[in-house]
Amino acid sequence: MCKRFIPYAHAKTIYDIDLGFFKFLNVKYIFVDLDNTLDSYRSMTPNERSINLINSIKELGITPIILSNNRGKRVKGYAAMLDVECIHSVGKPFSHKIKKLLKEKNIKNDEVIMIGDQMITDVCSGNGAKIKVILTDKLVKEDQFTTHFNRFFERPFRSYCRKHGKLIDWRIRYGQS
Ligand SMILES: [Mg+2]
Repeated sequence: MCKRFIPYAHAKTIYDIDLGFFKFLNVKYIFVDLDNTLDSYRSMTPNERSINLINSIKELGITPIILSNNRGKRVKGYAAMLDVECIHSVGKPFSHKIKKLLKEKNIKNDEVIMIGDQMITDVCSGNGAKIKVILTDKLVKEDQFTTHFNRFFERPFRSYCRKHGKLIDWRIRYGQS
């Protein structure tokens, strides 16, 4: 089993994570995936739930940055409405743009947590940049067509990790259970 696919922790969705966990981790930044992590790929504008979450993260003094493989127009538009920085066309599973971002902003690897719904893109790229990744399940059923391919290959890795206790619930990392 390739270690690159194993996340630091698992959460059902980004909205299930207690914000105290981010303080516990002592991070300054959260790199957030957009499609099927923060919102459906069909949503062109943030909804009340995503607005509230991003605002609550900001209120903690943590800076959220959207990192998406999706194209510029959609990602930039969505991020602008949340008033957060973003990087589009990140090229996950590759991690060079993430490493570049860490360097540019002078972010240490332990000052950031990444959250995303795919092992092959989010977990792999985060691990490649040596940052912790929280893997979530799909936020909504529907995926973009190109994601179907990744899901197909991800399925056996997910079930292997689940079976072998490698998807550690965020509450366990937080010491809550
Ligand atoms: Mg995604």
